Amino acid sequence: MKSVVFRSMLASTALTAVLFSAIPQAAAADPNIGILIYKYDDTYISTVRNALDKALTAKAAKFTMQDGKGDQATQNDQLDVMIARQMNGLVVNMVDAQAAQGVVNKIKAAGVPVVFFNREPSADVIKSYDKAIFVGTNAADAGKMQGDIIKKLWDEHPEYDVNKDGKFQYVLFKGEPDNPEAIARSEWSVKQAEINGVKMEQIGQTFVANWDTAQAQAAMESALAANAGKIELVIANNDSMAMGAIAALSSIGYNLEGGNKFMPVVGVDATEQAVDAIKRGIMSATVKQDGEAMGNAVSAVILNAVAGKPWLEGTDYKFDDSGIAVRIPYSPYLGEKK
Ligand code: CA
Repeated sequence: MKSVVFRSMLASTALTAVLFSAIPQAAAADPNIGILIYKYDDTYISTVRNALDKALTAKAAKFTMQDGKGDQATQNDQLDVMIARQMNGLVVNMVDAQAAQGVVNKIKAAGVPVVFFNREPSADVIKSYDKAIFVGTNAADAGKMQGDIIKKLWDEHPEYDVNKDGKFQYVLFKGEPDNPEAIARSEWSVKQAEINGVKMEQIGQTFVANWDTAQAQAAMESALAANAGKIELVIANNDSMAMGAIAALSSIGYNLEGGNKFMPVVGVDATEQAVDAIKRGIMSATVKQDGEAMGNAVSAVILNAVAGKPWLEGTDYKFDDSGIAVRIPYSPYLGEKK
């Protein structure tokens, strides 16, 4: 009812056009942006953070960044502080995307625009607040690109079919059990390889290694011990876990620079470490998630919102079919040939 009254009040004014478009209604003000990061200790997120820092600094925008340290309760407390400090724009990289409704409710009560990025809340949650959007990737695309890479490796390297049974025996490292990116990458990497005509066979269970190098290394060591000679391929949801698998392989004489034993390993992110590993010939390929492009996009849209402008004004970004999400594309990365 309130909005009807508001509309009629403004119906004859020049503000009508502004009111009826999906524009954040914050009054223009000097930006003072609160940024909540799920955890600093994540290679890809560090790239995004650096880009965000650089882009906001270049625009002389004031901002505060906090490390959620992988704990949602910590992040909730940090949010409360940012709201109490009357930040006029918020950027949130959820620790637990499932907890996003509570976060949106608090921000909605404060009335400030919010950009979620990377770890994706459900569309319903974003749509529950007209000053919320999401900037991320299309999670299935990263998996599909891994599946295309697997097909290429299979075709170009008959020797990877170690037991010559016409199937690619693989182990899979998943980031987290319920994370939408992890689920989509895990599903689509294998599915796309199969769509491409490669017969895939999983060895052992799916290893949930929490995007973490050390956890992946420990899991890979057990997998290698339990399935000696049976594994032909490693698929990892991110490069940090791929690096862990490579560390485990190196301890049994595989994937050493200049060595003669090699198992193909495919990751996601194109972190510096992975790009270097591909160059050195100890990793096959990755999928580039452009952290710098992500950081620049988040900076551009939150600054627009704080200035009371449409989210995407003056940018080349477009909303996807949901109307509330901007997708930064992935690209396959196979390195430069030696
Ligand atoms: Ca085989």
